[in-house]
Amino acid sequence: MFYTRKNYLVIFALLLLTGGCVRDPDTNAATPEAEEELIARALEIHDRVLTFDSHADTPLRMIEPGFDMSERHDPNETGSKVDYPRMKEGGLDAIFFAAFVAQDIRDDDGNTRAKALGLQMIDTVVASTQQNADIVGLALNPEDAYELEKAGKRAIYIGIENGYPIGADIANVELYFDRGVRYITLVHSSNNDLADSATDPEGPEHGGISAFGKEVIREMNRLGMIVDVSHGSDDVFFDAITESKAPIIASHSNARAVTDHNRNMSDEMLKAMAKNGGVVQLTMLASYLRDMPENPERDAAIAELRAKRKPADEMTREDRKVMRQAMSEINERFPTPPATVQHAVDHIDHMVAIAGIDHVGIGCDFDGGGGIEGVFDASEVMNITIELVRRGYTEEEIEKIWGGNLMRVFTEVQAVAEEMQSQDVS
Ligand SMILES: [Zn+2]
Repeated sequence: MFYTRKNYLVIFALLLLTGGCVRDPDTNAATPEAEEELIARALEIHDRVLTFDSHADTPLRMIEPGFDMSERHDPNETGSKVDYPRMKEGGLDAIFFAAFVAQDIRDDDGNTRAKALGLQMIDTVVASTQQNADIVGLALNPEDAYELEKAGKRAIYIGIENGYPIGADIANVELYFDRGVRYITLVHSSNNDLADSATDPEGPEHGGISAFGKEVIREMNRLGMIVDVSHGSDDVFFDAITESKAPIIASHSNARAVTDHNRNMSDEMLKAMAKNGGVVQLTMLASYLRDMPENPERDAAIAELRAKRKPADEMTREDRKVMRQAMSEINERFPTPPATVQHAVDHIDHMVAIAGIDHVGIGCDFDGGGGIEGVFDASEVMNITIELVRRGYTEEEIEKIWGGNLMRVFTEVQAVAEEMQSQDVS
């Protein structure tokens, strides 16, 4: 059973009635109340620490006509995983909304379209924070999240997933920074002009990061933007470590030694990330969390469905519903083993063992494919904390995982920018 905010209150009531933990007098074994006590303790920690999710593709939903972030959506009915009421329910204090532009043709026309779509998503996020100023706030600096949390509001940060909307014009990096963007994921599922993807069927094109990509990293360093290597090839990761003057992040990636996937990070990469002072943010994507038995029939059915899918910005609500229904039919015909919060914390355990507690965080990838059993949407993220407490993580460690580490990196990125700018002036 998983816990929601509603039975959180029930648990507290039960605790009051039973006087807390109850143990069997003969065996001293924990009775069910001890489990409830653990959950209550975990939820208190969850409330106290800043909980920061470094990656959600929610702007894709926000640009849909009529989609209202102040309304609670049923994830099964609508497919939506994040809105402001559910962030509050899950005790999620801060989030990076990533303006995601799918890779398309790499020419002037393609770049222009990508920039227009990227700007539309960024503007939509900013507008949403203004329209809902009583419950959320646009956050630009690390300290904003803590201030908004104190004011009882959610902190909304903006990132860009895929450097494609930069096009061939370095000036766009500063344009996005000025609009509020604080990280850029260099590349997505196919190669772009900046970098090679971990999953491009054609294989690597630049052997890591291109000359222009290196220029972009330098500009991001100068401005105080976080370099995000999720989706990049292994060479992109090592190039980014070498090129960036500030620590880097992987906003949504897991451990390859636990689940062998190109999108996950090898132990060598985890160690390099620790040395770099950066952070790997664990993601809730089922296929990166547990091994999947091979199923060519299922793969073929999904490939067929994807081939029919319209581009994201052309999809109507009805189109999305049809796609979701088709996908759940595939899931019924070819069921897969569920990914659970235990799988997720197995990855955290491994990353902590290899990279250390200071280099692990959480980026769920809601609205971009993220969502597992027990952490299906933003309203259920407290189940991660419950599992961490169950495995013996302390409040101090949980605080680091849930946002402290990401904030440390962000602060350092800004310090590097200040130094570079002061050198420019002198
Ligand atoms: Zn992604």
